[in-house]
Amino acid sequence: MPNSENLKVTVVGAGIVGAAIAFHLSRLGVNVTVLEAETPGAGASGHSFAWINSFGKEPRHYHDLNRRSMDTWDRFARLLDAEVGLKWGGHLTWASNEEQAEGLREQVQRVQSWGYNARMVDEKFIKSLEPGLEPDAVTAAAFTANEGHVLPARVAEICMDRVRLNGGRVHMNRKVTGIQTTSGGATIVETTGGPIECDVVALCAGLGNTELAAFVGIDLPQQVSPGVVIKTDPQPIILRSVAALYCPPISDGQQEIHVRQDIDGVLMIGEGSQESMALDASQSHADDLLSRATHYMPALKGARAIPVPVGYRPLPMDDLPVVGFAKQAPSVYVALMHSGVTLAPLIGELAATEIASGAKMDVLEPYRLERFQ
Ligand SMILES: Cc1cc2nc3c(=O)[nH]c(=O)nc-3n(C[C@H](O)[C@H](O)[C@H](O)COP(=O)(O)OP(=O)(O)OC[C@H]3O[C@@H](n4cnc5c(N)ncnc54)[C@H](O)[C@@H]3O)c2cc1C
Repeated sequence: MPNSENLKVTVVGAGIVGAAIAFHLSRLGVNVTVLEAETPGAGASGHSFAWINSFGKEPRHYHDLNRRSMDTWDRFARLLDAEVGLKWGGHLTWASNEEQAEGLREQVQRVQSWGYNARMVDEKFIKSLEPGLEPDAVTAAAFTANEGHVLPARVAEICMDRVRLNGGRVHMNRKVTGIQTTSGGATIVETTGGPIECDVVALCAGLGNTELAAFVGIDLPQQVSPGVVIKTDPQPIILRSVAALYCPPISDGQQEIHVRQDIDGVLMIGEGSQESMALDASQSHADDLLSRATHYMPALKGARAIPVPVGYRPLPMDDLPVVGFAKQAPSVYVALMHSGVTLAPLIGELAATEIASGAKMDVLEPYRLERFQ
């Protein structure tokens, strides 16, 4: 493999994961070209709730990976040196019946035993943290102090600016339509703008990775995992402290909702857990989610619900990330994951190091592609 300065790497996909990898490659002096079929954030990154956390992540090694990336986020944001909507403040949740409360206590105990900053709190604490919140019945409540949120599409855009500044090339609206590896070691990436030759191609195309991997004989099946996160028009500060709020169902048959408020005052509201499937992108569903949030946050009265199209989570079959070079196509590097918003800073750094140096990062060993082959 050439030295990193001579190494030509093509990164396919400018979602938050591909953007972070391309950014770190460009910092290492690698000759980077990014190819994006649409624009940064067109995929899952632009539809994400973007909660930076490791609360419900299992098994332990995956929890630790997310946690390590949480710790990397501040440094990543400092390197980007731009406003990316990064807000810390933790995550607050409560249960309104004994069954939910039991589940919450168990989850808190589990992550506490792993040294995570999570604790059970009471209604007084909720009110002191978020005076605008009216939680109804509180059977049990929990707070995790070190979690946050960010604007992933903004992160991806800034990464692209930095790649350009570092001498890389960024092509938007340039779809990859084929990949060929030659016996001489070169890799040809076919695109809607013509072929590009490189030493390594990094597949960071989220859902599109399955089709791209198949071009080089790699089987990379994904789960179909739709999700819906609606928005409001900008509001005065309603959530003054917490970064993510999980509120219990108001009536039987409903799911919980999760809520965040961005720096521009816009609130995002999703339903169920991080993994819940949702396909209803209608105005009436958006209105319903907003009315459930208003039940707990009366200051939202008068806000407007803005529906957002369904987003699809990139999701390997066993829920865990796939990261690394493919044994059967040694010039092809794959990065595919859910929780990519939490994981992008760490995966960006580690993947760039693996691609540029050929070294193997121990922490990525549980996530190699070979586990499916
Ligand atoms: C509803 C929802 C809620 C979520 N909530 C959270 C959360 O709270 N916390 C969290 O950490 N994660 C969350 N996620 C997951 C997270 O958003 C994703 O893991 C992350 O955005 C994946 O980033 P990516 O860059 O891998 O993929 P994407 O953002 O999908 O980017 C892939 C890019 O590749 C491009 N592309 C595809 N095919 C081609 C091709 N052939 N040629 C060129 N370009 C191509 C696409 O246009 C796209 O821009 C959520 C996801 C969804 C959908």
